[in-house]
Amino acid sequence: MNKQRYLIEGIIGEKDGSLALMGRLCGDCGKKIFPPTEFCPYCSSDKLENVFLGDEATVLAATTTRMPVPPYDPPFTLAIVDMEDEIRTIGRVEKDESVKIKKGDKLTVKFGKLFEETIFNKKTKSKETIDVIGYYFVPKG
Ligand SMILES: [Zn+2]
Repeated sequence: MNKQRYLIEGIIGEKDGSLALMGRLCGDCGKKIFPPTEFCPYCSSDKLENVFLGDEATVLAATTTRMPVPPYDPPFTLAIVDMEDEIRTIGRVEKDESVKIKKGDKLTVKFGKLFEETIFNKKTKSKETIDVIGYYFVPKG
């Protein structure tokens, strides 16, 4: 099995044995923040604690890219989504090409390999392949 790393550290955590997105909860104004930041973007507080997010998202807008944007092969779909009623973020949607994503659609968060990368390990003086793990969305079935 290949080694693994997260695409971005600190946004995925383990909750009850399965992976979940991790945001921040502001201890001063009570807003949830994703992706996590050092200070609250609403009130500048630093009283932030990690909080797990639910796995459901609602599409606000979506677009399909047909140009290659490494490391992803076209076509792929990006969506602006709302989560937990107060978080707005952007993510890639994995789906059949025939499925159209539109405003109001419900998506589910998934975790898995996004792509592989090859690095040169200086210790072993050999190339090794690393699975880069991240999150994406799939249409809620
Ligand atoms: Zn705040």
